[in-house]
Amino acid sequence: MKVAKFGGSSLADANQFKKVADIIKSDAKRKFIVVSAPGKRHEHDFKITDLLIELAKSYMANEKYKSYYITITDRFSQIIDELGLDKSLYEEIKTTIDDVMVKELPDDEKLNSFKAIGEDSSAKILSAYLRKLGLKGSYVNPKDAGIMLKNDRFGAQLLPESLEQIYKLREKDGICVIPGFFGFTKNGSIATFSRGGSDITGSIIAAGVKADLYENFTDVDSVYSVNPNIVENPKEIDVLTYREMRELSYAGFSVFHDEALIPAFEAGIPVCIKNTNNPDAKGTMIVSERKNEENRVVGIASDTGFSSIYISKYLMNRELGFGRKLFQILEEEEVSFEHAPSGIDDMTVIIRDSQLTDNKEETIVRRIKEELQADTVSVHQKLALIMVVGEGMKETIGLAQTATAALGEAKVNIEMINQGSSEVSLMFGIKANDLHRAIRSLYKAFFEFENDRT
Ligand code: ASP
Repeated sequence: MKVAKFGGSSLADANQFKKVADIIKSDAKRKFIVVSAPGKRHEHDFKITDLLIELAKSYMANEKYKSYYITITDRFSQIIDELGLDKSLYEEIKTTIDDVMVKELPDDEKLNSFKAIGEDSSAKILSAYLRKLGLKGSYVNPKDAGIMLKNDRFGAQLLPESLEQIYKLREKDGICVIPGFFGFTKNGSIATFSRGGSDITGSIIAAGVKADLYENFTDVDSVYSVNPNIVENPKEIDVLTYREMRELSYAGFSVFHDEALIPAFEAGIPVCIKNTNNPDAKGTMIVSERKNEENRVVGIASDTGFSSIYISKYLMNRELGFGRKLFQILEEEEVSFEHAPSGIDDMTVIIRDSQLTDNKEETIVRRIKEELQADTVSVHQKLALIMVVGEGMKETIGLAQTATAALGEAKVNIEMINQGSSEVSLMFGIKANDLHRAIRSLYKAFFEFENDRT
């Protein structure tokens, strides 16, 4: 049996819901369906989740909220109308929104309750539509599905005991339509994953029911070897390992949430990325192992929005506890770090800009200077990270050289190289301004040149 997850663009309007229903209908193995909230219908449109967050914020701040309310309810009304579903479903969704508004709840719980409405409504609409088409489809609330979570400041995390509970879903008759993105804590309040988290729900359900395959339907034919906004018509990737996908989605490959890989990986369930708008395309498979002789490098990912803190102190290597004290300062300032390459007398800590407010930056620099007696502490902003990803890279002679030569050719200065513990990627820190040039040159070196030779 299969778990199929449909993202926001796959459910953006009634026509998309119809495509989704066709896909479900075309394969009887698609028994568990996980859905996102309706996403954008076109570039300048709004995602329902974003609108719900705006509605929540303005309502909770006693500001004008009506326009958000109307836009959201109109979107649902139109979808329900165009699918020819009963008006009572629209009333039900509207009542859910009204109830969340008036219910006395702590702020974070109230915000989560608003955020959950998008996915919850998508699941109700899709299950009703499947029934209209004569299929046996039922809406299954995440609580009944057994998705138990604990809150975390970066988004909820699954409680391990959930999986046993989810397994029982296999006994349910017909097609189960489950809203993505949220679950419940032990005390019954709604908790949401980080943004884009319906992928995580899909993966959890796939792991829980021990599915044969987790299909993740989105709006591209496959995962591309590089961002198509930077390189035109890049090579499509047929097969990837979990580890490769993890590295790629960490650094900007937004087709699949990086947290979503873990449940599928642990349960050994293959994942297939497919296109709702072109379901016959074969898509990209994510599996435990692949024959890696063919392409050592499968993809080049990149992301901007990083800063680095450079710390140097003579004889740092001999100072007991230096690293611990440094990371303790970060912990106390509630800043998590991404990477920390080090030299003999120096260390660089890479941090996402979203973590580092001006205030925190000042405090951290001051504390490192004072408490660690560092010789130099400097912050460098507007960094971009590039990950050249591929299993077996470490064993391939000359790969790093190809990469550095490509960057050199593009006149890109390398601020940092890291091929530390990860066996599947080589990471470069460069100035964000140089990013497109760097990526194009790397792509040429690893993909175009390689192809020319074969
Ligand atoms: N609707 C949520 C978001 O926009 C979750 C998802 O679509 O996966 O972040």
